[in-house]
Amino acid sequence: MRVQILSIIVILLFLIPVTSVAQDMAYPVEGDGIISFLKRWNRIDSTYFNEFIEINKDRLNDSYDLELGTVYLIPELLPGDVYPPLVSKDQPTDTKVFGKKHSNVPLRSNTLKDACFYIIAGHGGPDTGAITRIDGFELNEDEYAYDFALRLARSLMMDGATVYIIIQDPNDGIRDERILNNSSNETCMGQPIPKSQIDRLQQRVEKVNELYERDKDKYKYIRAIELHIDSRSPKERIDLFFYYADDPQSRLTSYTLRNEILNQYQQHQPGRGFVGNVSHRDLYVMRNLVVPNILLEIGNFQNNLDRERILNANNRQAIANWLLEGFLADYKRVITQ
Ligand SMILES: [Zn+2]
Repeated sequence: MRVQILSIIVILLFLIPVTSVAQDMAYPVEGDGIISFLKRWNRIDSTYFNEFIEINKDRLNDSYDLELGTVYLIPELLPGDVYPPLVSKDQPTDTKVFGKKHSNVPLRSNTLKDACFYIIAGHGGPDTGAITRIDGFELNEDEYAYDFALRLARSLMMDGATVYIIIQDPNDGIRDERILNNSSNETCMGQPIPKSQIDRLQQRVEKVNELYERDKDKYKYIRAIELHIDSRSPKERIDLFFYYADDPQSRLTSYTLRNEILNQYQQHQPGRGFVGNVSHRDLYVMRNLVVPNILLEIGNFQNNLDRERILNANNRQAIANWLLEGFLADYKRVITQ
């Protein structure tokens, strides 16, 4: 018995240090330098380079050349990095639409790989939507709705979702300015946007329904979201208003999004109060889309405080991030049902 216990202890003593210091090692390949060696293991940040030199100092010569036949320690992954690296799937959206500065869309997770979104920026083309004036500039709703749409689309893609951007502008990517220039060259995925209101709405509905017909069996979760800026009396503050179409999933999605954003407000701006409202709305687009869909009105374009949320690019990004959190929560709700 004693011998047995002793041998177990000996075995444990032998195992513990080995497992606790176990670290990946690898041989370099022909032509490798430290950077290419690390890149193969998806260690790209310069922190890895410094760490590599530190942990391999016994094996490195003064010029830091790697020698074939020498095994090198691989630095441990930093939080958020993974090996093997995530591979972006083919997206129906050319990321050039986000503009030069934002066309790189790094994948940070595959959480939404079974989700598909149709993002519809309100208005566009000949239709400016609501108009407001500030410091001698005329601001158009469609430009701001589009910037929100792009930011949300890009965030969703970074978590692995398939995203269609239904209304697109070939010239305007994600913009960080407060005053967004007006243009009327938006298209409905390449098609010119008609002048008449009913044709215009019908065009985007048909586009989304046609895509949905093709996509509906490929994904576990599909949603359409239409983004607008509200326009009311200057005194009124609205924050975010969520409207759902006449089906239970649209309704549940609206509530999940609103609740998630409420959580975010409580975390980041406690005491500020949040006037997010959820209700049903019978609009042409919402009624005719066959996809579960919601419509979002972001702030009152005519109210000074609400407008700050719309004009400040950081605020636009924050809202996109919160909507992403909402969709992540809603996705989880649906797939765990
Ligand atoms: Zn609108």
